Amino acid sequence: TGSRPKRLTPAALARWPLPKPGEDADKEDRGHVLIVAGSVEMPGAALLAAVAALRAGAGKLTIAAPAGIAHGLAFAVPEARVVGLAQARSGALLARAGDPLAAVAGHVRALVVGPGMQHERSIVALVRALMPLFSHATVVLDALAMSVVRNGELDQPVVMTPHAGEMAYLSGRSKEAVCEDPVAAAREAASRWNACVALKGGSTVIASPDGAMWQFDDGAAGLATSGSGDTLAGLIGGLAARGLQPLPACAWGVAAHASAGAALSRRHGPLGYLARELAAELPASLHALG
Ligand code: AMP
Ligand code: MG
Repeated sequence: TGSRPKRLTPAALARWPLPKPGEDADKEDRGHVLIVAGSVEMPGAALLAAVAALRAGAGKLTIAAPAGIAHGLAFAVPEARVVGLAQARSGALLARAGDPLAAVAGHVRALVVGPGMQHERSIVALVRALMPLFSHATVVLDALAMSVVRNGELDQPVVMTPHAGEMAYLSGRSKEAVCEDPVAAAREAASRWNACVALKGGSTVIASPDGAMWQFDDGAAGLATSGSGDTLAGLIGGLAARGLQPLPACAWGVAAHASAGAALSRRHGPLGYLARELAAELPASLHALG
């Protein structure tokens, strides 16, 4: 039940103008984004999300990653401040892992948690511990960080970026049911979890808790590639850091991600470009859309 989603076209984005910093705005004004991401097996997910956040125009970047990969990330992203999260030998984060983030929380306008993280239970515990510190910020949950909604409601609104398989896992629907009616799945998830949900796929449905629904059908096929979602999560976080509200940040993120894919398709052909190449296209994509 409920109305059909509106089509998310480039023209539709005009209703949510991108915040444009004044000439004398400094990097603080364009927002500080914190990316909590990566694992020993997937350190690159943190890299992808972090670089996308800066390419979205965020002014300042902090990465928090499991201690074992923090050093490598610090060299891979020289623009970032990098915080190591305490982990056990298994790789799981320790209960105190989030403690060092209390010191940066006050400055952060957008938090992205989850890309490439492993050890679900320790991630859920980390997200639970972090949420109260970031009640003033936009919180984007991706990948395993979204599992926090499996054990009860959250006290604050969040952004979630599931693909169909993750939506199935989180909602208890089958993946077939999610794919058959993504609009219903996204709508129900948004209201149940008090989340702005971007249900990703060949067509992406964005649902906000107030009932607004948007559908984006112009994704480039080559976007269905490893790491692509990590880039999207960082991009949405970067846009939120610049000052967009959750729904516009999702809408702009999905559209700019697709337009970056389209630019790479024109240059290289429809398949085989890399998620890491999307980020460099984002400034021009955002500029052209805005
Ligand atoms: P993830 O699975 O988290 O890496 O996210 C996959 C990304 O690829 C999302 O942004 C999806 O919207 C996008 N995507 C997946 N399948 C397609 C498709 N058939 N056409 C266009 N984009 C897709
Ligand atoms: Mg993903």
